[in-house]
Order: sequence, then structure tokens, then C-alpha cells
Amino acid sequence: MDLAIMYHYICEPEEWKGSVPISPKAFEKQLDDLARQYEFVLPQDLRKPGKKPRCVLTFDDSTRDQYLHAFEIMRKKGIPGYFTVMSGPLQHQVVPVFHLVHAALSLIPELRLWEELNSLVAQQSEKLEQAHKIYEYESSVLRRYIKYTLNFILTAEQSRSFLETIVYHHFGTKSHFIEKMYIGVNEFAVMKQAGMELGVHCTSHRPFDGNAELYYKHEIEHCANFMEEHLGVIPQWYTPPFGGGEHQGKMIAELEGILRSAGYQGAFLTKSGYIEKSQEFWLKRLDCNKLIGDFGR
Ligand SMILES: [Zn+2]
Repeated sequence: MDLAIMYHYICEPEEWKGSVPISPKAFEKQLDDLARQYEFVLPQDLRKPGKKPRCVLTFDDSTRDQYLHAFEIMRKKGIPGYFTVMSGPLQHQVVPVFHLVHAALSLIPELRLWEELNSLVAQQSEKLEQAHKIYEYESSVLRRYIKYTLNFILTAEQSRSFLETIVYHHFGTKSHFIEKMYIGVNEFAVMKQAGMELGVHCTSHRPFDGNAELYYKHEIEHCANFMEEHLGVIPQWYTPPFGGGEHQGKMIAELEGILRSAGYQGAFLTKSGYIEKSQEFWLKRLDCNKLIGDFGR
């Protein structure tokens, strides 16, 4: 059966502690292992007849490590792939909060982060007991407190403002952070030139909110217009943020017609599985970190 693999960060886990990246070395090994069974193709080639099962490499969130590590390895090996654009940071200089959380946890010592946060919520310290339940998987107590405070004690605006101050200060300026964190227009142009397929991820990484027409206009069309204007690409593939989130069923039912009439050929979900019918519009993927057993690390 054909297969699509989902990648996010491709960098050293010791250097990026805010989430679970795959190291460039492990990525390269995974490609070598996959190559024994699969032919790597662009999404549109899934629908052409082939002798071997096909594999599409898909990349979400357009972080710059994908350009520096994954793209370089793929270019060297002559392997095609599908990268998606998140236009908000490039176009409006707005960074999604979850990326600010990853950056803060990766770049700023836990103790310093916690001292600054704690001074904001010192009177509410009894609430922190809950942190141990929700973030049990984090072995560091400080990380539990930091995540709990950002996600459950502070308001969304307070968290954003705290994170922006601390992360942008670390990089000097907001635009410097954006340059370091995301694939830029010139880099996307190089990837396109090298034969990579570019699709839409989002404008601002909001999950699907239930209103298909408005969501399409703000989160998809807006990004597609940016791609056409700056990269000369009319995108034909879509990857929804958070796989559509809690309204995924509604997204699948109501967004497909709009996407099809705008010329999209298909979309990649976060739902785990192989591709049973490549003619289907919504395609499942396997997370790269779940291939460990089958394809080594
Ligand atoms: Zn995403």
C-alpha cells in the first residue's frame, strides 16, 4: 500500500527541546530504509500507475530546519517531497503561540523561564498541583509548571505577550526570530526550482472553526494568494493545521467541495494510516516518529 509520512522538525533533539524532532541522521537513515520498499513520489504521482508502492514525504509548519536539513538531504539523494507554506509569519509577522512555546522551551533555560513566569502568577501557586497530572509525561517539574502556567493559568493574550517578549528578546528582534525560524520566500523558490511540491498549510495556524467558507478565505486562499504572488505557485495540495482539530468531521464534509472547485487535488490529514485508495481527496499519514519499529532510527 502507498504511504505518506508526516514530518515536523528535522533537527537535533538536544538542540530543540520544545517538541519531538527527528535528527537529520535518523531522517537520512529512514529514507534509506524506506527506499528499499518504496518509490518516493510527489503527491500527484500517487495517482499514476507504478510498479512499487509509493511514498510521499510531507512537511508541516515550514520551519527553517526543514530547508537546512531535510531538503538538503533529499536534494542530495534526488528524492522529491511535499512542503507546505504557513504565510502568517512571512506576510504579517505573526508567529503562532505553539511555536513560541517550542522556542522558549528550547532556547531559554528552564529555571530562568520559570522565575519570570512565577513572578506573574505567584499568588496562584496552589493551582500548580494540577500540572503534575496533565504533564505527567514531562520528567522535569519546572517544565510541567511552565507549560501549565502558559496553557491554563495565564490568558491566551498574557501567554502570547510573555512569550513574545522573552523569545524576541533572545533573538534581538521579532523579524530576526522569524528569519531564523521559518523558510523564507527565497528558500521556497530554491525548493520549487529543485522539483519539490509546495502546498498550503495555513495563514495563522488556527484550527478549522466550523465555518468552511470563511475558513477557506482566511486560512487557505489568503496563503494561496501569497504563494502565487511571491512564488508563482498555484497550490494544488492542502494540509490542514492540527489535521482539522476537533471539527475534523465537519471540515472533511464541508471543505472538500470548496477546495476542489479552487483546483486542489487532495489534502493530507494527521489521521494515522496507509493510503488505501489514492483517488481519495483526504489522505492519511504516518508520523515519522512512529516508523521507528519498521524503519529503524
Ligand atoms: Zn501545523
